[in-house]
Amino acid sequence: MVTMDKIVALTKRRGFVFPTSEIYGGLGSTYDYGPYGVALRRNIKDAWWHAMVISRDDIVGLDSAILQHPRTWEASGHLESFTDPLVDCRACGQRFRADQLEDVQCPQKPSVHPGEGPNCDLTEARQFNLMLETSLGPVRDAGSIVYLRPETAQGIFANFKNVLQTSRRKPPFGIAQIGKSFRNEITTKQFIFRTREFEQMEMEFFVPPDQAEEWFLYWLDERMRWYVDLGLSPDHLRLRPHEPDELSHYSSGTSDIEYLFPTGWQELEGIANRGDYDLRQHAQYSGEKLEYFDQGTGERYVPHVIEPAAGVDRAMLAFLVDAYDEDEQEGEKRTVLRLHPRLAPIKVAVLPLVRRDGQPELAHEVHDALRPLMASEYDEGGSIGRRYRRQDEIGTPWAVTIDHESLENRTVTVRDRDSLAQDRVAIDGLPEFLQRGLAETG
Ligand code: ATP
Repeated sequence: MVTMDKIVALTKRRGFVFPTSEIYGGLGSTYDYGPYGVALRRNIKDAWWHAMVISRDDIVGLDSAILQHPRTWEASGHLESFTDPLVDCRACGQRFRADQLEDVQCPQKPSVHPGEGPNCDLTEARQFNLMLETSLGPVRDAGSIVYLRPETAQGIFANFKNVLQTSRRKPPFGIAQIGKSFRNEITTKQFIFRTREFEQMEMEFFVPPDQAEEWFLYWLDERMRWYVDLGLSPDHLRLRPHEPDELSHYSSGTSDIEYLFPTGWQELEGIANRGDYDLRQHAQYSGEKLEYFDQGTGERYVPHVIEPAAGVDRAMLAFLVDAYDEDEQEGEKRTVLRLHPRLAPIKVAVLPLVRRDGQPELAHEVHDALRPLMASEYDEGGSIGRRYRRQDEIGTPWAVTIDHESLENRTVTVRDRDSLAQDRVAIDGLPEFLQRGLAETG
């Protein structure tokens, strides 16, 4: 059975995820992504960008700055409302989320929750803003304070007019953005599920007001399908509409796509009907007109917005958890990541059976021919069984083995990660064979 500990161990062992600043003792709940991690993330982001931008005529891309004008966060409501309730304990000096005391242990008496120990002395709850601050320019004073964006969405709203004017689009149309966001989360836990620096994939879809509900339902379906198409088990996904008292200040309807993580059902992506809240707020705070004017009909309106907001790190965790499997091969335990081939960091491993008799040379030739087409890895170190297991653990869908027969007739063995079937394929036909395999899996 997959547990979070197994995912943490595998991703560290195989170079997907490392704790940040490990040589200095770490920096609580921040993570660096190693060679395979960065490849997996890039593939997730590419798949999202492809689905949202490349394959559609009605969505365009944007890359706005992390630092925005401070008024942005007044207009968006983040300065006032992006807060968590916190309590301090006068006895131990620690700080906790008032609404999550049940989830944590008292530092002095771990068998009870904060507030339940004999010495606990909790303050009243105070609102704590989650935005991280820094300052711009050489003098640090009240006027130099800026915030690291807590979401990518506001950069999209601030550019609504620019994009509308230059992209020759009209509602319904969307603007998509992938980038880092920052939140001074109090309770960071569960590995890369909730961190203070993370990456989002957000899209704001601007629609005529009377089409908002229809597009909201459309995006719920589309986003669910995206995860399933990339291999998440439909049984591990569900939609959960927010209760009226959970809705954010801007939202007239939100549903979360939840995934069954080893720790239970939790949010993977939020899809919100934001109405015209954001454009109206930014229009009011900036004095700019943020609306759509149809020159044909003379119609003028403030578009409503449907927002699918996903997290790269959280999606990565879900894909890893869903792909994780253990089975037994020839009496030996095997750990395998059954990642969708599109997401797999390495698509093909090229392995000479032995390190002599011209096999490495031929294997290099095969690797060089595949490299321009897909992520290929050459590996000649250790027994063939060990090399297969290593590739299984990083989710490589195909392993190509060069043996003595390869030198005689220029054929190789292609081993399939999941079925373990071994096909004998001509070297000249190998690129096509693998590309067909990739195309068939979508
Ligand atoms: P949560 O309730 O889990 O804190 P949220 O509802 O505040 O999340 P949104 O503001 O809707 O999250 O952000 C959209 C997506 O961004 C989330 O579904 C999640 O995938 C990702 N995300 C948000 N906060 C974090 C975080 N601290 N670490 C990692 N990913 C995050």
